[in-house]
Amino acid sequence: MKMLKNKFILIPISVLILSLGLLVFMNYNNSSISYKSYILFEKDLSSKNISTIYITDSPKIRVQLKNGTTYETDNPRTPDAKETFLEKGINVFENYPANSRQTYPIALMAISIISIIIMSLKSSGKASKRVLSLDSLDATAVEDSNYNFNNVAGNEEAKESVKDVVDFLKNPEKYASYGARMPKGIMLYGQPGTGKTLLARAVAGEADVPFYAVSGSDFIQVYVGVGASRIRQLFKKARGNSQGKAVIFIDEIDAIGKKRSGSNSSGGSDERDQTLNALLTEMSGFDEKEGIVVIAATNRLDMLDPALLRPGRFDRHIEITLPDISSREKIINLHLKNKPMGNINVHEWAQKTSYFSGAKIENLINEAAIIACKEDSVTIENKHMDKAFSIVLAGYEKKNRDYIRDIDRKITAYHEVGHALVSLKILPNEKISKITIIPSTKGAGGYTLSIPEDKLYENKDYLKRRIMVLLGGRAAEEVVFGSNYITTGARNDLQRSTSISFNMITQYGMGKTLGLLNMQELHDLNINQDEIIHECKKLIDSIYTEVKNIIIENRHCLKKITELLLEKETLFSKDLEDLKITTHR
Ligand code: ADP
Ligand code: MG
Ligand code: ZN
Repeated sequence: MKMLKNKFILIPISVLILSLGLLVFMNYNNSSISYKSYILFEKDLSSKNISTIYITDSPKIRVQLKNGTTYETDNPRTPDAKETFLEKGINVFENYPANSRQTYPIALMAISIISIIIMSLKSSGKASKRVLSLDSLDATAVEDSNYNFNNVAGNEEAKESVKDVVDFLKNPEKYASYGARMPKGIMLYGQPGTGKTLLARAVAGEADVPFYAVSGSDFIQVYVGVGASRIRQLFKKARGNSQGKAVIFIDEIDAIGKKRSGSNSSGGSDERDQTLNALLTEMSGFDEKEGIVVIAATNRLDMLDPALLRPGRFDRHIEITLPDISSREKIINLHLKNKPMGNINVHEWAQKTSYFSGAKIENLINEAAIIACKEDSVTIENKHMDKAFSIVLAGYEKKNRDYIRDIDRKITAYHEVGHALVSLKILPNEKISKITIIPSTKGAGGYTLSIPEDKLYENKDYLKRRIMVLLGGRAAEEVVFGSNYITTGARNDLQRSTSISFNMITQYGMGKTLGLLNMQELHDLNINQDEIIHECKKLIDSIYTEVKNIIIENRHCLKKITELLLEKETLFSKDLEDLKITTHR
């Protein structure tokens, strides 16, 4: 079937079929040549009716009469037959009449057969080249990619974390002279469409080095060893470019770097191991001065083989999160920049597009531009954005339910502020650096990041307070929405608080049941586990009551912070300071 890819081959094939048909038709006509017995032939011979005789080795000879008719008769097969005929004044030919009508289709056939052979040889040559190129990868470098950090809106933290890499790529010798070890590999992780590829491109563009992009799935082949050899080729190519510096980008690294599942060594896993090993070998093979940085991207960091993430490999991990409202505003502005923009309220659209990725926003604006163009509108207007929004939402809602309902957003916000508020009240020395309702790989709904105080020991009081902060999320849900509307969002909090309370009682000698005994040392002995669980529960219950009281007492404050969080989606310590919340109880 591949041969048919060259459609010109159809021409000689159809010519061949036509001429074949013509020939068959002619032969059919020919075979209608009549047959006469030898006796009748001899009669013609004696009555001198014959003009020409064609003698061949075949059992028949062909006879042409003077009146033009031809017939066949048996070959006499006598050595002197020719002589006898000649003596009688008959023309004798030792081949069949050159039927001129037949020569044309035969010639056509020959030509078409030859051209078919030539063409198929050529295309099979191509095919065999394709087989050969299985182990050579088409990693085309984008030499002067005009991407830079200006193409990446928002993602400030991520951009900040790769700035030194850009500097290193510009000047690897300088870093080498300081003995500074640059990360050879950077792992960008986060949801699809958040701009991981974009950022990698921008790094290459900012540093002005070639960008070699491949995808992990390119390396998974049917033939064992092909992936590994492709990896080697890729690095050779990147090193061999005129600058000697490069950014190698491996998208979907999970395709080759998935956690090995141990027992299950089915089909492609051997291949994947070889490819992964080749990658690790190549990465440890080049030295710091070279100026080659490998950037990989994945949606799931937790799925990756830990070997990939060790020092000297992809040891810098950068999370690319979904954009919050201010980032979305920047992304919208960026993508509207080179388009005719009418009365679009960018801030409002940033609000409407919560949980949209950068790619989704880009898609939205593109749809709006298409609609405006269809309507022959001079500029893209709000109404076009409205139409595009319902199109984009409809498309995405079917695929995944990432258009989170307003009520879910509100619950997430109260939950997160619950943590933050309790922390502000009872652990005033721990700075809350970030509260967000933008989901991340770290927390399902949102998360609150606080920087713990540096201390060598954690005392009983501190551990209790930590549990209080952990329970603050659930407590806020219950106080605000009622005990029937508490959510599954507290699962991780409860795991952690349970673990702390269990350790207090069984490991640190802070409980009553075991006293100063350590449960680990007693593991064989018959310990009354019910009693321990009972004590844990009592501890947590009493702490929870206390936490709920804090929330109730500070409901007003809870509401104030939550409203701000719902508006901004991400709050930093400065925003909290601006709210002037009194910290001590
Ligand atoms: P990922 O690699 O994380 O799946 P991409 O880098 O392929 O995402 O992003 C797809 C497109 O979405 C980009 O080409 C760009 O148009 C848009 N985009 C995503 N994030 C951003 C951003 N932070 N700023 C501007 N555009 C973005
Ligand atoms: Mg991508
Ligand atoms: Zn929580």
